[in-house]
Amino acid sequence: MADKFDVIVIGAGPGGYVAAIRAAQLGLKTACVEKWLNKEGKVVHGGTCLNVGCIPSKALLEASHKFVEAKHDFDDIGIQAGDVSMDVKKMMARKEKIVKNLTGGISGLFKANGVTAIDGTGKVTSSKQVEVTGLDGKATTYEADNIVIAAGSVPVEIPPTPLVEGMVVDSTGALEFDEVPERLGVIGAGIIGLELGSVWNRLGAEVTMLEAMDTFLPMVDTAIAKETQKLLKKQGLDIRLGTRVTGSEVKGKEVLVKYTDAKGEHEATFDKLIVCVGRRPYTQGVVGEGVGIKLDERGFIFVDDQCRTSVPNVYAIGDCVRGQMLAHKASEEGIMVADIIAGHKAEMNYDAIPSVIYTFPEVAWVGLTEQEAKAAGIEVKTGSFPFAASGRAMANNATEGQAKIIADAETDRVLGMHIVGQHAGEMIAQGVIALEFGSSAEDLALTCYAHPTMSEAVHEAALAVEGHAIHMANRKKRK
Ligand code: FAD
Ligand code: NAD
Repeated sequence: MADKFDVIVIGAGPGGYVAAIRAAQLGLKTACVEKWLNKEGKVVHGGTCLNVGCIPSKALLEASHKFVEAKHDFDDIGIQAGDVSMDVKKMMARKEKIVKNLTGGISGLFKANGVTAIDGTGKVTSSKQVEVTGLDGKATTYEADNIVIAAGSVPVEIPPTPLVEGMVVDSTGALEFDEVPERLGVIGAGIIGLELGSVWNRLGAEVTMLEAMDTFLPMVDTAIAKETQKLLKKQGLDIRLGTRVTGSEVKGKEVLVKYTDAKGEHEATFDKLIVCVGRRPYTQGVVGEGVGIKLDERGFIFVDDQCRTSVPNVYAIGDCVRGQMLAHKASEEGIMVADIIAGHKAEMNYDAIPSVIYTFPEVAWVGLTEQEAKAAGIEVKTGSFPFAASGRAMANNATEGQAKIIADAETDRVLGMHIVGQHAGEMIAQGVIALEFGSSAEDLALTCYAHPTMSEAVHEAALAVEGHAIHMANRKKRK
């Protein structure tokens, strides 16, 4: 029998590595098992987020946004940049460098915090044992008083669009194109589709998005979703809602896609096709038979509000359990679980988890939409403020979008904040704090915001809840 640990974490994504570091910081003897291999065949830490998710996608989003600014927007502000072009290979090399630095950084943090990194594939074989199959194929069993499963998720594949190397790809493949496709098809106008569709659209691809649902971004407040759709359309994203893809075929260097919509059957031809129709939990093989860890009907590991599985002392966190598939949600669950294992009282507020879509402008939200609140029978009052009326937005050449606050009509408590605008992903932290602290809209309205900042739009939206926005003609009756 190999070493015994207080905690063994399976998976070193933002759920697992954070849980492992926190557990070690709390004095627990901790190991973290990881199997992700980089292109050189070496185990790397960081999971989906660092290797093929949040970080590489943001590196490409930032680079492509700078390209658009230099090519189209600099002139507006008096900068003569001349002929601007993008070196896609260099952009990709920069992305790879960032990934390498960050994944190496996690391995460094493991060493600094005394987390034992175990390379290989972990499997829970009993409530106190993890079997690890190493890269050499040899299995070793480790004992642990507590086990945390943080195995993450993988892209969903659909029968009409089977992946074809380099042609029909998932999000990982779409982060690897070595040239800009002339015609890019995207199946699914969700978060990945909008982010990666934006990257390649900005670099010159003609992007067509085929989305099954009739509603665009249904999780976002309708006013914000509608404005986002309009802005992205203006940028060139051809978003076709209410479509059903029925088949695809690779013919030479082209992909032929068949789909139907309310008007009938259609065909479209692309140079590349990205399939991004959601992700599914990656739980296959991580739970040994007979251990008693229950999965739900969609393959997620069944957990309670504190991420306890159906087996005592075995926890599961992140994308492989219920809830939003977000890195920060996974990390917070990791911290909660490590704290619980160390004997502390810990819980999460699942109602105050922010979401951000890193398009330009960004879309960010937390809490209820106006429509969700009304459907739940809550009487609401709302306040909105357009960035077109913000001095800082004008100075930034970023006047598109608006901030909206949804508050309880009776108590004034902030129920939700939804924003589309430059830096919305930074501004939304104010909504998260408001929800976390149970603030009223008036609390935000009475807060002093720095001038000139984009955040002043949040302040004005809070003032607008009572019809008192300063830099806008209020439509509400003044009290
Ligand atoms: P993962 O990051 O998937 O990590 C799980 C780890 O477990 C992996 O390293 C895997 O190799 C390992 N593993 C699995 N099984 C075993 C086993 N049996 N033995 C050993 N190791 C195992 N979220 C955001 O919040 N913001 C973003 O901007 C964002 N952008 C994204 C962009 C893209 C293109 C994608 C695909 C995702 C993005 N996400 C984003 C989602 C985010 O990446 C995930 O929510 C997050 O990585 C989940 O963390 P996790 O630790 O649960 O799982
Ligand atoms: P998603 O759920 O955001 O979007 C998938 C979209 O595909 C949906 O709009 C869905 O209606 C559509 N769809 C499903 N089946 C379809 C079909 N057969 N034909 C056409 N459309 C279809 O999923 P995603 O974009 O794949 O992203 C997966 C997860 O990764 C997200 O849930 C998100 O949590 C996470 N993620 C987060 C970020 C971020 O935080 N910025 C970025 C990328 C990914």
